Amino acid sequence: MAKNRNLAVLFLSLVSAILLAASLWGQEAKPAPGGLPVRYEELTAPDFVRALEKSGGTCLIPLGVIEKHGPHLPLGTDLLNVRLVAVRAAQQEYTIVFPEYFFSQIFEARHQPGTLAYSQKLMWAILEETCDELGRNGAKKIILVSGHGGNSSFLPYFCQAQLARRRDYAVYLYRPTGDPKAEEQIRKMRKTTTGGHADEEETAVMLANRPELVHLDRAKNQSGADQKRLTELPDFYTGIWWYASFPNHSAGDGSPATRELGELVVENEVKQLVKAIQEVKKDKAVLELQKRFFDEAENPLKTQQ
Ligand SMILES: [Zn+2]
Repeated sequence: MAKNRNLAVLFLSLVSAILLAASLWGQEAKPAPGGLPVRYEELTAPDFVRALEKSGGTCLIPLGVIEKHGPHLPLGTDLLNVRLVAVRAAQQEYTIVFPEYFFSQIFEARHQPGTLAYSQKLMWAILEETCDELGRNGAKKIILVSGHGGNSSFLPYFCQAQLARRRDYAVYLYRPTGDPKAEEQIRKMRKTTTGGHADEEETAVMLANRPELVHLDRAKNQSGADQKRLTELPDFYTGIWWYASFPNHSAGDGSPATRELGELVVENEVKQLVKAIQEVKKDKAVLELQKRFFDEAENPLKTQQ
């Protein structure tokens, strides 16, 4: 009887050990509930490995900024809006979306309250180290999506400087060619024809994104009209050009914005970004050419003439 009881105990512990092992194995192999999160910060370390595989080694950094957006939109408008588009696109075409990033070029708004204008050294270093760290973690295709117009010189130069030293990852700066049909539809729906910052379109996107943060009644408190204070220098670029035109850090009129317009703009932007993520996933040329270039650059005298 005692022997039988011992055998029974042994049998039961074996069964429970097998069940425990099976359940642990199940946990390990099971995908996250609702599928893998697209947001980097929401992934566990084991999920990160699977996410990279699923994303084809891509990681998307949506770049925002903290700056004034007229008198009626939040300081983080570019950050909030670019993340909305990036997350929605990643949910359709899987990629990992990097956490909140707002180290962008914004010296021209230093005179406005709340602007975070980091030095050029820091901006450069943090983006370069972020890319290096992503590359070290296996994200060999890094997609930069800027939601901020002030990055228009900084980011292409950052990409040019990728060739300064060998690296085993590639940086792809997203520059959409645009969809003329969708643009025509947006143009027809708009009530204003000028803009560029905290304008009708940007206000509309924020209405579609976070309506509680939009203060339409304050949109006309400051002028977003071009002040044209540098018309005598048509052949030059100077850093003060934006301030010369738009000292209130607002370009255009946000007051006629509607949620419907915002939804149309977001839908179009998501559609284009989905296509772009697919292009990067398919691409083999950039990394191959970069490798060949770095090999040749190490010994230029051996480069075929
Ligand atoms: Zn903006």
